[in-house]
Amino acid sequence: MSGWLAIAGLGPGAAELITPEVGQALAQATDVVGYLPYVDRVAARPGLVRHASDNREEIARARQALQLAAEGRRVVVVSSGDPGVFAMAAAVCEALEDGPSAWGEVDVRVLPGITAMLAASARAGAPLGHDFCAINLSDNLKPWTLIERRLRLAVEADFAIALYNPRSKARPEGFARALELLRRVGGEQRLVLFARAVSTPEEQLKVVSLAEAHPGMADMRTVVIIGSSQTRLLSRVAGALLYTPRSVPAGV
Ligand code: SAH
Repeated sequence: MSGWLAIAGLGPGAAELITPEVGQALAQATDVVGYLPYVDRVAARPGLVRHASDNREEIARARQALQLAAEGRRVVVVSSGDPGVFAMAAAVCEALEDGPSAWGEVDVRVLPGITAMLAASARAGAPLGHDFCAINLSDNLKPWTLIERRLRLAVEADFAIALYNPRSKARPEGFARALELLRRVGGEQRLVLFARAVSTPEEQLKVVSLAEAHPGMADMRTVVIIGSSQTRLLSRVAGALLYTPRSVPAGV
């Protein structure tokens, strides 16, 4: 029995952005486990069983994958982007912590992928070129008060901020409140990148100031990058570049 479990990132969408390491794991797998749209990105082939589940069943999905690997199957759990960023790698660790001792022997590997903020940043230029942080705006797994505190402190610390899950279905007004807070604490001039469905045929990029940003500019397929006070738009004939310089002047 030589089962294993690989927790793999499929990148933001384009096949070219899947790493060769993840491609190899998928080629060797007997089972693919994940949220339906991600499992759909893995081509069917004889000998590969695809287990698709609903988005909210992360721990149940992790347990199913661990059980299959413990039985000797070669299992890939798929996430979009990177599996360690608001995705399945931590869910598998949680399931392991509470699981049977036999799972302690399962070979578990995490295979990185290109996360949405890095794909978006690369498309726009280099908005994450200086210090930055990432905040998940979904309040499914944490209280909204904590999200507001982290946003406020991140702006006060003058980080560029990548916002994942900007439009939570459970709380559609959350993103509007987040934008208000960002304007109040950081002023209206900061630049904001709305990057939707990066690296897919539906890709859309938009750069506006916080004054112009409104909640309707983001949906569940959008990652939002709020610039620091130093982030700027470099106009060029061949296309503008949004970037944050590598150094900050004294006194900022
Ligand atoms: N593990 C994923 C993130 C999962 S959370 C990763 O590393 O990218 C889901 C959120 O990721 C979405 O709501 C959106 O904010 C962002 N996202 C995922 N794919 C994206 C893409 N192709 N373009 C823009 N944002 C994306």
